[in-house]
Order: sequence, then structure tokens, then C-alpha cells
Amino acid sequence: MGPTGTAVVKWCVCWCAAAGVVGRVQLAILLGLLVPAFHGLAAAQSTLPGRSSVARSLPPERQRRLQVISQTISNEVPLVIAHRGASGYLPEHTTEATALAHALGADFIEQDVVLSQDGVAVVFHDVTLEGITDVADVFPGRGRNGRFYVFDFTLAELKQLNVSERYPSGNNLEANGRFPQKTGRFRLSTLEEHLQLIRGLNVSRGRDVGVYVEIKQPKLHREQELDPSKEVLRVLGHFDYRTAADRVFVQCFDEAEVLRLRTELECRLPLIQLLSDEPSGEDMARIAKVADGIGIRISAVIDGPSPKDPKRPLVSNVVKAAHQHAMLVHAWTLRTDSLPDYASNATTMIDWLVREAGVDGIFTDQPDVLVSWRQIARTQRRVDGPFKLLGNGASVSE
Ligand code: CA
Repeated sequence: MGPTGTAVVKWCVCWCAAAGVVGRVQLAILLGLLVPAFHGLAAAQSTLPGRSSVARSLPPERQRRLQVISQTISNEVPLVIAHRGASGYLPEHTTEATALAHALGADFIEQDVVLSQDGVAVVFHDVTLEGITDVADVFPGRGRNGRFYVFDFTLAELKQLNVSERYPSGNNLEANGRFPQKTGRFRLSTLEEHLQLIRGLNVSRGRDVGVYVEIKQPKLHREQELDPSKEVLRVLGHFDYRTAADRVFVQCFDEAEVLRLRTELECRLPLIQLLSDEPSGEDMARIAKVADGIGIRISAVIDGPSPKDPKRPLVSNVVKAAHQHAMLVHAWTLRTDSLPDYASNATTMIDWLVREAGVDGIFTDQPDVLVSWRQIARTQRRVDGPFKLLGNGASVSE
């Protein structure tokens, strides 16, 4: 019997004894009815509550997509998602960072996408350029109130810029030991160039590394009469990313845009709703009708060490709630050179995220560290696969 059942039985005994309304025989009958009921309830709760039944209650198209996604990533627990490429070692989103992420063994490589003035999908994190390029020197006077927007420049102009290292903000830059800032020769590249590179490396390295595309600020783009979602789907389709079985995820913070992707733009690809904070139960249920998973900030999954036992994490309810709605959870961002204060080292942080919180994937600047952790965990049989969402061998096709 679980703790819940034990507590209930104790409460019944106390209440009955205090009230004096039943004799020993009657009490035994009462307990005989209650104990199996609570035992069964506890057992049901301990076996991935509701995942399979929730999965079966999904619309047929969502069920089919869930099944093919789970097959596609069945042996990748947790999924290693190279955040902006191997951005811990090379300037983010450059083709160099993508090639290194591929070499380091990432399962998926992320591409954030903004559009140029002439409508080309460019792989870049911000909608403005001044943070990590020399745009102010190359195109003085082209800013709006000191901000240089990507969509104010043509692709030919963007190609003239040099991209530099970005460091995580609020950290000791020297101690991070990242690629030196404002050195080297790095260019902005298009989504097409990144996909070509990954496709080529998949051939030459005999791998099947996936792509994980984020549509940045769709509303702001549309104010410029640009439509990044349409362009991203066009480019992905050109590279044969068309179904849920393909090695691709599309992510966006804008919930209305995720819905638009699924409905108006008829996107069949796995969709990830990005979230900064833990959503309410109502929000989670609404998101689950459209998206196949959520991408959420690590601090919304783990809020430091447990006050009762500092060797254990204080885990929020978000992963459990998402799994109950048959959604994946991909957490961002693991930076081994910029861990939260409470994490003594990267291994502990990953242990907590995967084994304690149960996330399905992690965005990381250092994909090699997560790959190593997974290799060791597999030899020690410390991580259950495939895809925990379909635990207990249940199948959504049942
Ligand atoms: Ca991103």
C-alpha cells in the first residue's frame, strides 16, 4: 500500500475508534473494502498516471503523430539538442558551430530563424544584429533608435557581417573560457545552408541528425509584411521534412502562431510550444490539443535543491502534467560553464533533470557532455527508454 492508502486507513481507524460507532467486525469489513481500493489507486498512480489513457483520448491525427515521433526518437533518452549548434565552443548559429555539434554526437541541432528584408530565412537568434555582429561599423546609420533589425537588411548585406561570440549574460566572461570574442571570421548563414550542411554530414558520417527550427517573433515579422512560418515550412519541405516521421521539430513561443502552423498552414511536423514559466493546468490542456510537446526553461522544472534533502531537487509539476497530456518535455538550456548556483556539477544537473524530473530532452550549449552522460547512464542502465511517454509498453494504436 502506498503512503496515501496507509494514511487513509489510519484516519479511518482513528475516526471509527473515536466515534465508537462500529465494532471490531464492522471495522474489519470497512477496512477490507477500503484497503484494496486504495491499494489499487496507489498502484495505478505509480504506473505513469493516465499517460496511455490520455494518449488514447487524443484526436486520431495527434495519436498517429505521437506514435511516429516516439518511434523516431525511441533510443534517445534524453534527446541531445545542440542549442544554437555547439554554441559553448564556437559562435552560435554559425555553420562551424553546426558542424561541430554534428561531430560531437548531438541528436538534433537547433536553428533559430529570422527573415531578411528580401524574405530569406536566416539562422540567427535575435531579431536585431548589434549583439553579436559588427553591423554598427559596417552599416552606420542603418539602425532604428540604435537597433539594427535583421529584416532591414538584404541577405547580400547580412552576408557582409562578421559574427562574434556571445557569452551568457551575468557571468564571469573570462572564467567561461569560451571562444574569444571578436576574433575569427564567421558569417551569418541561411536555413537552407544549414540544412544542406546537416544533410551532407549525415551522408558522410552515416548519421541521421535532426533539425530543430524556431520561428522567432512572427508578429513582429508580419508587421514588416514577412511570414517566417510560411518560409520555414517551404524550406523544410524542400529538404523533405514533411511528416511527423521526419527528424524535425518546429518550435515557437507564440501560441497563436503554433495554432496557425497546425491549422491554417497545415503543418504535420512535430510542434513544440515554447514556455518560459510553468503553465496552469488549463493552459497545458489547451496547448496539448495542438502541440506535441513543450520546450521550457530549466528553472521552471527544477527550483533548486529540496529543503528536506539538499541532495535531491525540488521538482515542479510541469513534466508530470505535460506527460499526462501525452506531450514531450524539452528543457532549456544546460550550460556546463554556467550552471545554476545550486548545481554542484553538470552530472548532478543532468541527473536531476532526467532521472528526478523526467524530461525527455535537453537543449545544451555543450552537446558532448550530455552525450557522455547518456553513454555512461546506458551502461549503468540508469535511464529507461524508449520514450517514457508510452511507458509500460502501452501503444497509442490500441
Ligand atoms: Ca531557440
